Amino acid sequence: MPELPEVETVMQGLRARLEGRRIAHAELRRGGLRWPFPPGLAQRLTGARVTGFRRRGKYILMRLDGGESVLIHLGMSGRIILSPARPNAVTPHEHMVLETDDGWHVGFVDPRRFGSVDLIPTEREDTHKLLAGMGPEPLDDAFNAETLSAALAGKRTPIKAALLDQAVVAGLGNIYVCEALYRAGISPRRLAQTVAGTRARRLVPEIKATLREAIAAGGSSLRDYVQPDGELGYFQHAWKVYGREGKPCPQCPGPPICAGIKRITQSGRSTFYCPRTQR
Ligand SMILES: [Zn+2]
Repeated sequence: MPELPEVETVMQGLRARLEGRRIAHAELRRGGLRWPFPPGLAQRLTGARVTGFRRRGKYILMRLDGGESVLIHLGMSGRIILSPARPNAVTPHEHMVLETDDGWHVGFVDPRRFGSVDLIPTEREDTHKLLAGMGPEPLDDAFNAETLSAALAGKRTPIKAALLDQAVVAGLGNIYVCEALYRAGISPRRLAQTVAGTRARRLVPEIKATLREAIAAGGSSLRDYVQPDGELGYFQHAWKVYGREGKPCPQCPGPPICAGIKRITQSGRSTFYCPRTQR
């Protein structure tokens, strides 16, 4: 499932190819994804010029010169395919296609159809039901130890669950929460309210650094991206704890001091952590 750095990378790839271009042709191959496409979507996109892009949490906003923004969510399995010409064969599960005035083909592929596309007035982007109520962007200055402490005050859920709550901070998912908690030495099971203060001052910089490193890795994957029929936004990561159950902990001596990375289930999802250093 794409998280913030993957979505940021997809947005940067789209920006590089689409900003300033006109949409010469738009095609929908079904009635919708998670929800129906907005009425007249293909007609409203055709002829519009793309003026800019913005990411909010895990959402991409593509702004058009007519004053509307296309809101895109990749869902569980969505991906964007860019190619310099219309592919010879139809890509399976490619439900929405845009063609630019310079001949590029942009396909939204989503086998499980948990993704979504909506069209909203640009000036009211932040009041859209999916974006309203979202917490601060983790890379903005508005997300800091003070604002995080305030959001966690009185919260009696585990810190892992609190950080996944999009009202506390936007765009964090399972992988980056596990990684940031590990780097900050904070147990994923610790009650959220006890992270306010000293621990929040340790955690916030690790959240930002974890995301920045992943975005940088995504950016270099874009520079390497030369093949036609390329997919945006998926790139290699070297996780410290995520998916590494039983593997040696990168910052501990081996057994008997640290038995390695442990996996537990919290709210139905896997959490990976080091029981020795994360308290
Ligand atoms: Zn360890």
